[in-house]
Amino acid sequence: MIGVAVLGATGTIGVNTLDVIRRHSDNYEIVALTAYSQYDRLAEQCEEFNPAYAVMVDQEAAEKLQKLLKLKSISTEVLHGSNALDQVVQHKDVDVVMAAIVGAAGLQSTLAAAQAGKKILLANKESLVMSGKLFMDKVKDHNAILLPIDSEHNAIFQCMPNNYADGLDRIGVNKILLTGSGGPFRELPMADFSRVTPEQAIAHPNWSMGKKISVDSATMMNKGLELIEACWLFDTDLSKIKIVLHPQSIVHSMVEYVDGSILAQLGQPDMRIPIAHGLAWPNRIASGVSTLDLVNMPDLEFVEPDLQRYPCLRLAREAMLTGGTATTVLNAANEVAVQAFLDKKLNFTDISKTVEYALEQITARTANTIETVVSEDERARIVAAEFIDTTTMKAGVVN
Ligand code: NAD
Ligand code: MG
Repeated sequence: MIGVAVLGATGTIGVNTLDVIRRHSDNYEIVALTAYSQYDRLAEQCEEFNPAYAVMVDQEAAEKLQKLLKLKSISTEVLHGSNALDQVVQHKDVDVVMAAIVGAAGLQSTLAAAQAGKKILLANKESLVMSGKLFMDKVKDHNAILLPIDSEHNAIFQCMPNNYADGLDRIGVNKILLTGSGGPFRELPMADFSRVTPEQAIAHPNWSMGKKISVDSATMMNKGLELIEACWLFDTDLSKIKIVLHPQSIVHSMVEYVDGSILAQLGQPDMRIPIAHGLAWPNRIASGVSTLDLVNMPDLEFVEPDLQRYPCLRLAREAMLTGGTATTVLNAANEVAVQAFLDKKLNFTDISKTVEYALEQITARTANTIETVVSEDERARIVAAEFIDTTTMKAGVVN
């Protein structure tokens, strides 16, 4: 049996992971499930999967979960606090860690999984964006296996030979073609952007996702984070990555080789495909997703992104070029701005302005320790919050 810990079990990726595992209960055993505070959902999951451990980061929620499990005579041990996340990922019975916490909150536990040499299925792109080289070094130093779950990176991984770590030039890669749908506002007149509401922003045309990544998709900060993620995962600089808008979300990314070949991975826009791929790699298992009906498929379009429409894309690129803690600042300021937007305290167009302000205010440092990364993340959150306060005071309430 392969032991699995699912971090962020109650989220979109967590639920999809459990759906794949449910189909293969002969081979996979859930050792730990974790969530921030959604104790009722976690209780249902414990009832079905009977893990040895359940972690609630929030203590009050942990107490409620404990009571619910006791009532149902479920023997899962309940732990609380973020340090308990590290404890469960490092457990000897855990072989695979699904890193699916949203945002910087996932950093510590994902690094703990790397340190313990586990097989990491990385959905939590923010942790890699904020700590870059430190993260990749930890994976290498402890012989952990890092498999991308982000659909684009999973597609790129599938289109590369096994020895891609030898260097993209050596294996004849000309370009990585990173696709993105362009989000729900690809055709919205730019004059209307400032009136976009959270409800409109989280309604993605092709994918069903958590709120934060849905807003990131609408601003295309998601593609910016993915650009940075791709640089680290495939050990390349920005010059080898080209972003291509592909509104149908059928081709999940491509790799262009020097001989003129382009390899692509196609499939339904359903995260269970990359999740099943990561779980079974280097083998394959059924994901529960039907294959594409190629004959009745819509036409596939590929277009250049308009950088004016998506300032977050430009900011992500600039932060990666600056290097060091600039991407930490980018990520932290974005998280704060997206939350303020979801709370209706900030306009949609002010998300990128908040990030730009934080990047201007904070000089990038060398990201040589995790402590530096964490302190720069905190600093960026304070700077972003100050910007949001002054913007809100000037503009009055939004939406
Ligand atoms: P979500 O909001 O649906 O779920 C987030 C999960 O993280 C929940 O289980 C929640 O309890 C947990 N969580 C939140 N804050 C926490 C904290 N402070 N400490 C511990 N746990 C916490 O998010 P999602 O859409 O499932 O995305 C999860 C991650 O996967 C994100 O990093 C996202 O970028 C990435 N991702 C998601 C998709 C997708 O289709 N949803 C695709 C690619 C990548
Ligand atoms: Mg993606």
